Amino acid sequence: MANRILNYVGGEMLAGGDSFANYNPVDGSEICQVAQADSAMVDLAVAAARRASEDSWSDLPVTKRAAFLHAIADGIEHRFDDFLAAEIADTGKPLEQAKAIDIPRGIANLRFFADLAKNRGDESFQTITADNQRALNYTVNKPLGVVGVISPWNLPLLLLTWKLGPALACGNTVVAKPSEETPSTANLLAEVAADVGLPPGVLNVIHGQGTGSTGEFLASHPDLDAITFTGESATGSAIMRSAADSIKSLSFELGGKNPAIVFADADLDKAVTGTARSTFTNCGQVCLCSERVYVERPIFKAFVEALKGRAEALRIDRPYVQGTNMGPLISRAHRNKVMSYYQLAREEGAVVVTGGDIPHFGDDRDQGAFIQPTIWTGLEESSRCIQEEIFGPVCHITPFDSEEEVISLANNSRYGLAAALWTGDLQRAHRVAPRIQAGIVWVNTWFLRDLRTPFGGVKRSGIGREGGRHSLDFYSQPTNICIGQ
Ligand code: NAD
Repeated sequence: MANRILNYVGGEMLAGGDSFANYNPVDGSEICQVAQADSAMVDLAVAAARRASEDSWSDLPVTKRAAFLHAIADGIEHRFDDFLAAEIADTGKPLEQAKAIDIPRGIANLRFFADLAKNRGDESFQTITADNQRALNYTVNKPLGVVGVISPWNLPLLLLTWKLGPALACGNTVVAKPSEETPSTANLLAEVAADVGLPPGVLNVIHGQGTGSTGEFLASHPDLDAITFTGESATGSAIMRSAADSIKSLSFELGGKNPAIVFADADLDKAVTGTARSTFTNCGQVCLCSERVYVERPIFKAFVEALKGRAEALRIDRPYVQGTNMGPLISRAHRNKVMSYYQLAREEGAVVVTGGDIPHFGDDRDQGAFIQPTIWTGLEESSRCIQEEIFGPVCHITPFDSEEEVISLANNSRYGLAAALWTGDLQRAHRVAPRIQAGIVWVNTWFLRDLRTPFGGVKRSGIGREGGRHSLDFYSQPTNICIGQ
């Protein structure tokens, strides 16, 4: 593991000024120091990306760009164990999860968008106007130029490649700023890019914090053409303000407060298993997690009991211990935030069905950021615990009596990212799913992703869609050419 992470700019590893520490959330130990990109370093990175864009990358045949992306994917596969160890050290995720999801899906993102871009066709129309003028219209898709990619810590490699894959495949160059909490796999990605001979400046990786720091310097940089961002909704607002002066294209994948809806006709065991996954996976730190669960009254008690059983059966432990289901939260600071909601829920009179506290181990894990999986009932829908994104292993369960009521409860949120619907009635699924205000509605499943499908949120959960052709559309700009005949 690197003991010092540098900025990768114009094909070189550069130190710059200050550095900050990267901590392991399992025991609070320091993993490494990370060089912080100051505004001069951000300028250098954007200039390197601009040069690389103009030099050749944007004109390179898409087949060659795709070959580079496949070479990077091969490089990650070749160093799979390094990537795995780095992701686990930064996040404390269970080994099995990082091995099955984080690293493989990171690789898959690069391969998928390489192939998709290669097979993209442009539109053309034979035009005959009412007064019999004739023309051929055709559209040429061109890169945007330099794209800033700002990503979060919850699925570090997966969410970074989800954006830089299509950005590079479409012929853009990239300045990527991973989360300051999780710089390690982005650093390895930079090493792999250099090893496979990606031209200098095509991918730049800079490190640092957000507000008043590297992230803000990047978002406000006048020579960026677009920003693609995944993170909190409040950060999205800040980035929008930073980007406003120079009018950049924006794609935002933001926070969620996602409902899970369980009808009495659902397969109870499947619904409980699915909801346990959708609440506690990655210690509740997936934007798609269910933090609001609505259960039809006849099965309410049975559901609450069963979910309690699942929560209490979760093994909270170190990532490499076999059978670990849940690691720590990302940091002590984030745990303080989640704990403040655990406290608030008690003050507001919640019934704490299970959890609500910090586990004590009696060893170095007590210096980490572990927290108990938690279930509440009995809160008012207006409670901050039901309205605000907590981003921890916690849900509130509310009973409901009718379809109309639950649709209105589910939509009573300023967020609209995802929802999970559990029912044995297919007609009901077709009736209810389109009425949920969300970018994605899962029926009798959760977190099943097909990279060809649109992904994004409504309301404060995002702007635009990525995934499949939607990503290609965002990362390129069409010029229509009309040839009179
Ligand atoms: P965050 O918004 O705190 O940080 C994300 C990134 O933005 C980091 O790299 C950070 O340094 C940077 N940043 C922070 N302030 C900035 C500023 N003013 N200008 C520019 N950059 C800035 O988010 P997080 O805590 O890392 O991640 C958790 C959040 O991400 C949750 O809200 C979660 O729902 C959301 N998320 C959304 C999706 C989605 O697809 N919709 C996916 C994953 C996570």
